[in-house]
Amino acid sequence: MQFIGEWAANEGRNLIYFQPQVLETFSSYVQVKSNDLEAGGVLLGYVRGSHLEIVEATAPTKFDKRFRYLFERMRDLHDAIAHKRWAQSDGTIRYLGEWHTHPENNPSPSGIDLREWHALATKRKDGRPVLGVIVGRHGLYVENTPRLGEPVRYEPIL
Ligand SMILES: [Zn+2]
Repeated sequence: MQFIGEWAANEGRNLIYFQPQVLETFSSYVQVKSNDLEAGGVLLGYVRGSHLEIVEATAPTKFDKRFRYLFERMRDLHDAIAHKRWAQSDGTIRYLGEWHTHPENNPSPSGIDLREWHALATKRKDGRPVLGVIVGRHGLYVENTPRLGEPVRYEPIL
């Protein structure tokens, strides 16, 4: 599965670029078989004005709870990686959001997903939105959830 790496919202005023290694991580956890479990992690990258460049998607750790229709992160390990990258990059590579898989061809967020993204956005110390990515079998779902106001849905640039 080759996912699309360039996404846009608000007539192109907001762009998101997923670097190839991020798409490879997504591809390696697609729930192809009927017993494949959900996977996920955090998204790290650069803020470039009103655009985002995603450079890393952390892989599930052995401490995460993985089920067929549910993925629960043990936040500490993912947060530790995020903090390490932030320190190594002099604060330029930062936490941008969350990703997880769904056993659907074209995924859409569950009520739990929407509530979690909003709760995370409310908790962010830097006040930035939380990017939520769902990895399906045929495509991604990409949405940026601010602390206040409506979430912004991104569409692939074909
Ligand atoms: Zn979900």
